Amino acid sequence: MKDSFHANTKIIGLLGHPIKHSYSPFVQNVAFEFGKLDYVYLAFDVPSVNLENALNGVLALGMKGLNVTLPHKEKITRYLDELSEEATTIGAVNTIVNDQGKLIGYNTDVTGIIETLTPFKEQITGSTVTVLGAGGGARAAIYALIRHFKPERINLINRTVQRADSIQNYFSTKMRYDGFKTMDLFPPDIVETLRSSSLIINATTIGMFPEMDDTITNIEESFSSSQIVFDLVYNPTKTKFLKLAESQGATIMGGLKMLVSQAAKSFELWTGVKMPVDKISKSLELYISK
Ligand code: NAP
Repeated sequence: MKDSFHANTKIIGLLGHPIKHSYSPFVQNVAFEFGKLDYVYLAFDVPSVNLENALNGVLALGMKGLNVTLPHKEKITRYLDELSEEATTIGAVNTIVNDQGKLIGYNTDVTGIIETLTPFKEQITGSTVTVLGAGGGARAAIYALIRHFKPERINLINRTVQRADSIQNYFSTKMRYDGFKTMDLFPPDIVETLRSSSLIINATTIGMFPEMDDTITNIEESFSSSQIVFDLVYNPTKTKFLKLAESQGATIMGGLKMLVSQAAKSFELWTGVKMPVDKISKSLELYISK
């Protein structure tokens, strides 16, 4: 890890609340080191009420950019000067570039989701899929599904069903997709819905560090061996939800590949340089295994 900083060192921040689960500071600082780039990446635990002040701080301090994580990805869009086309359609931002005093928002979670799911494209197209969650991660997943994978139906399940309904309305208008069905997160009612899906994506925080014993379902019948189950949660690398899906023969994926893919795209937006993705993935695996 870099051991010296200078007057010209460029600062990138991560805004979230909570923030302790994040591996992004490790990923980005190792990548800066590999690329011999004079940058540093720091995490800031910022509650929602301080979001606008934090952005003023970014401008006042001349920071080069930010990552934005839960729960701020949607709210932060209202304080930015410009949004990329993808971020505009999704309605959520996870990366900000300070372009000479102008804050420009991007969504690189989409890149991470597309890269993770591309090997399964044939299986997803024209099928029924289920997305759990209605926050920033879920919005990126829904955008990626509609634009790149084209499922016939998307079941959208969320604890606060009004939030799922509002996503349905939003994407029906923005992307003219009419295959949504929304519902409450009520096990065991959701068992049949999960089981009948070719792909299940968990975009809730359920099972994330430190609440690792939590899971969306304990019911084995929720899964089958022909399914793909993708959990955006990357800490722990294999959630309780994924372990159960795996025990029923499903093909499982945790959030680590997505984490590195979205980080690589953000890194490129800030520095103009490509991240050495294979080297960073290996360093991250080693870091986590310690
Ligand atoms: P977010 O915007 O804060 O949304 C959180 C979602 O989780 C909401 O749907 C919320 O439901 C639900 N939720 C929270 N606590 C719950 C509980 N106790 N029971 C049921 N539902 C609950 O968060 P986000 O940014 O979308 O992130 C969601 C997860 O994806 C996090 O674990 C995050 O680390 C992960 N993620 C990973 C990557 C990656 O690169 N691998 C990228 C993005 C996100 P309500 O609407 O009812 O509150």
